Amino acid sequence: MVPSTRLLLALSCALLLGLRTGAAQPDTSRFAQARHQMVRTQIEARGVTDEGVLRALRTVPRHKFVPEHPPELAYADRPLPIGQGQTISQPFIVAYMTQAVQPDSTDRVLEVGTGSGYQAAVLAEIVDSVYTIEIVPELARTARQRLDRLGYGNVVVKQGDGYNGWPAHAPFDAIVVTAAPEQVPPPLVEQLAPGGRLVAPVGPEGGTQELLLLTKQEDGTTARKTLMPVRFVPFQRKN
Ligand code: SAH
Repeated sequence: MVPSTRLLLALSCALLLGLRTGAAQPDTSRFAQARHQMVRTQIEARGVTDEGVLRALRTVPRHKFVPEHPPELAYADRPLPIGQGQTISQPFIVAYMTQAVQPDSTDRVLEVGTGSGYQAAVLAEIVDSVYTIEIVPELARTARQRLDRLGYGNVVVKQGDGYNGWPAHAPFDAIVVTAAPEQVPPPLVEQLAPGGRLVAPVGPEGGTQELLLLTKQEDGTTARKTLMPVRFVPFQRKN
């Protein structure tokens, strides 16, 4: 094969790969390496095994969700401030919560607490459609622009109080709550489809919070499981 043909072939393979990965552009930067290492040492090492989840964490350019920090910090084993007193969760927590709701490619998912938009992007790499609600207007606006710019056309961002869920798009196959209410808001449980899964940190601000997994049975009752102690920013209510 002459070198130019080989080059063309390589280019078209790269293009095809780019199309296949969907939303995010193929990332050949040094950050792709940082992400692979993050997944290996922080996420797989702690027992997350779902291939779809691991692939999503390797794909979403986390450094683009925290532009006010040095990019290296984006891949560190810690949460980070995102302004307005809010934080983006530690990568492991994002992976763990995503795995907990067992996302499937055909699922419709609700997230409450968009923040930077990172968790929404991780979900959007796996499922068909993501609806996400953020109470702080500035964060909702920034996340919407960021997700659009990165090509996540399957994420819809709404500014508002997520306590009442998003009835117009219910029922949801999975719901991920990323701020801690004292109790799981009943409207969210109502908006779970039969067989649907909801994960939420529950407990008082600054006190002991537990990550809860609720599963709606086919008969409409919910099964409840406590997963682990966590620390999240409080769930706010609009007065
Ligand atoms: N999932 C985010 C991190 C969330 S931090 C990410 O990936 O970056 C929790 C977010 O929940 C904050 O941005 C906070 O403003 C938001 N929040 C708190 N209470 C809320 C409510 N009632 N409805 C919607 N968003 C809420």
